[in-house]
Amino acid sequence: MTDKMHKELSLNCDICDGSCCYRGTPLYLPGERDIVVAEVPDHFEELRGSFVIPKPKGYCPYLNTEKKCSIQHLKGTDCQIYPSDPFYDDELVEFVIDMNCPVQRTLTPKFVAMALYLGAEWIHKFPKEDFDLYWDRFKRNNPEQNYTTVHDFLQNRGDRFISKVQENLRDHVDGDLSGWLRKVLFKNNLTELLVS
Ligand code: SF4
Ligand code: SF4
Repeated sequence: MTDKMHKELSLNCDICDGSCCYRGTPLYLPGERDIVVAEVPDHFEELRGSFVIPKPKGYCPYLNTEKKCSIQHLKGTDCQIYPSDPFYDDELVEFVIDMNCPVQRTLTPKFVAMALYLGAEWIHKFPKEDFDLYWDRFKRNNPEQNYTTVHDFLQNRGDRFISKVQENLRDHVDGDLSGWLRKVLFKNNLTELLVS
C-alpha cells in the first residue's frame, strides 16, 4: 500500500525554482538512501544511522541545472511529502506546512491525506532522540521558516476540503487507521479525519 501511495504522490513543482532544495536538508532512512545510491552518485552524510543530504554549494546536489530534482523517481519520503513537514513534539508528532512553498495553495486533499499517512509512518521509524538532533540542526540552519499547522491549514481550506482528505485517508488506509496514526491525528487536532 505504501509503495502505491508513494507513486501517486506527485507535486507539480514546475512553477518553482526548487526553493525548498536550497532551504531544507532532507533526512533519509537507510533504505531510502540505498534506493538513491543504487542509481546515482552518493551525496549523503550519515547522521546517527540515518542520512542527510548536505549542501556544500548552498543547494541540494541532486538539483539539476534547470533547478528541478534529478531524482524525482527515487526521492525519499521527506522530499516527497514536502511542503508538509512532521517533527516530534514530546512523544508524538506535529505536522506543519511550509507557507513559503508556492504550491501550498494548490495542494489537493489526496496529497494532504497521503502526506499525513506517509509522514506519520516515516517519522515513526526514527529513534526520537535522533530525529530531534536532526530537527534542532535544521531549525538552526533555517531560522526564517514560515510554517502553519496542518490543523490551521485545513481550517482555512474549509469543510468540503477536510471531508475529501478524510475520504482519501479512508480509501488508502483501507478504513483501518493504525493506532500510531490515530494518535498523531489526535495530537494535531485532526479528529475529524478519523475514519473507522
Ligand atoms: S515542494 Fe514547494 S518549495 Fe519545494 S520545489 Fe516544490 S513547489 Fe518548490
Ligand atoms: S532530493 Fe530532490 S527534492 Fe529532495 S532536496 Fe534534493 S533536489 Fe530537492
